Amino acid sequence: MQTHYPVAVIGLGAMGAAALYQLSQSGVKAVGIDRYNPPHDQGSSHGDTRITRLSNGEGPQYLPLVRRSQTIWRELEARTGEALFEQCGVLVMTSSQRHDPQDPEDFTQRTIALARAYGIRHEVLDAAQIRQRFAQFAPVQDNAVGYFEPEGGYLRPERCIAAQLQLARSQGATLRCNERVTGLVQMDDRVKISTDRGEILADRVIVSAGMWSAKLLGAPFDSLLRVCRQTLYWFEVTSPERFAPASPSFILTHGPGFIDVNYGFPPLPGEASMKIATEQYQQACDPDALDRQVNDDQVETMYRTQVAGRIDGVGSRAVKTSVCAYTVTPDYHFIVDEHPSMPRVTVVSACSGHGFKHSAALGEALAQRCLRGHSDLDLSAFSLERFNR
Ligand SMILES: Cc1cc2nc3c(=O)[nH]c(=O)nc-3n(C[C@H](O)[C@H](O)[C@H](O)COP(=O)(O)OP(=O)(O)OC[C@H]3O[C@@H](n4cnc5c(N)ncnc54)[C@H](O)[C@@H]3O)c2cc1C
Repeated sequence: MQTHYPVAVIGLGAMGAAALYQLSQSGVKAVGIDRYNPPHDQGSSHGDTRITRLSNGEGPQYLPLVRRSQTIWRELEARTGEALFEQCGVLVMTSSQRHDPQDPEDFTQRTIALARAYGIRHEVLDAAQIRQRFAQFAPVQDNAVGYFEPEGGYLRPERCIAAQLQLARSQGATLRCNERVTGLVQMDDRVKISTDRGEILADRVIVSAGMWSAKLLGAPFDSLLRVCRQTLYWFEVTSPERFAPASPSFILTHGPGFIDVNYGFPPLPGEASMKIATEQYQQACDPDALDRQVNDDQVETMYRTQVAGRIDGVGSRAVKTSVCAYTVTPDYHFIVDEHPSMPRVTVVSACSGHGFKHSAALGEALAQRCLRGHSDLDLSAFSLERFNR
């Protein structure tokens, strides 16, 4: 088996699959290595759907990434015939008795402000308009504010990963699945990668190991990255008429805390359930000891605190659940940078729960960095150096 490659990509989830595909587009015969057989349900890229929206309340630095990614998803659809990006629109709302929906720091207001500043097509809706347009959100408070972006929607993450890996392989990439990388050492002009099956040499390495990044890389990543367990719920749809004619992806803020938010997706074609989730950042966990069970109490709590009285048309029975994890940095922004002591190694991931929508463009930018030392898109906002300031 070949043991020396121009580029090795470690981890073939959202980021790694995109990077390997883009390297193969440039004619580079890279190797991709994954401890499982992607797409799989052990990392951070499973669960049928991921929201994509142009106006990222997280900050303007993400706009070029998501714009470019949306173009790449369409190119991938044309090449593979797979449906990857459903442009059903996205509705970002704040509806709360305990929190002012007009607060400029509110996520919906930040989303509106960014859309206005960058000319992103959108509508601002009041409570009556939300109720009239989207019957599933009829319970919103009278002071609710909504942002509707018609160009947003959802991605099919497993299909996106599979499509890019399939194309990468057909364009000359080598895939080594069910092989775990155990260590990296930078030598003078290459990197030695140790795995549970042997050694690989690469001129350059991209580490896109998701929630296992800190375990693989050690300092400084072990003090910067936290892995937070998240749970996904598919509640049964009891009133399908509530979701017609318009059913966008959504993000609903209903209070001031991190936990006072939920998001979800329209019922997928042929399925009588609606995926709804919230976020938790309080408890960190070991990625190798992630509790993957979801019990009835968790389902009941989720329905009572996040769904009942907020979303109409779904019942309390969860037809499916899944566990996933965010890898979170101290400022909730990405890290895309060279390893501080191994300049031939570029680290990406730690995408703090909002990375999928940007992954296609990040893969392209990473490939460009590997091949010519810089990327068309400016990634300086995601440097490690910001944590030293
Ligand atoms: C519940 C949930 C909901 C989300 N919702 C959204 C959303 O709506 N919109 C959005 O844009 N983003 C969303 N995100 C974030 C987005 O899904 C992630 O940022 C993105 O999928 C992470 O991709 P990744 O490539 O960094 O990690 P992963 O996809 O987990 O890939 C890491 C890969 O590395 C492999 N690996 C790890 N260690 C090793 C090793 N030592 N050797 C070999 N292989 C290794 C793993 O097997 C895995 O395949 C969500 C995330 C979660 C968890």
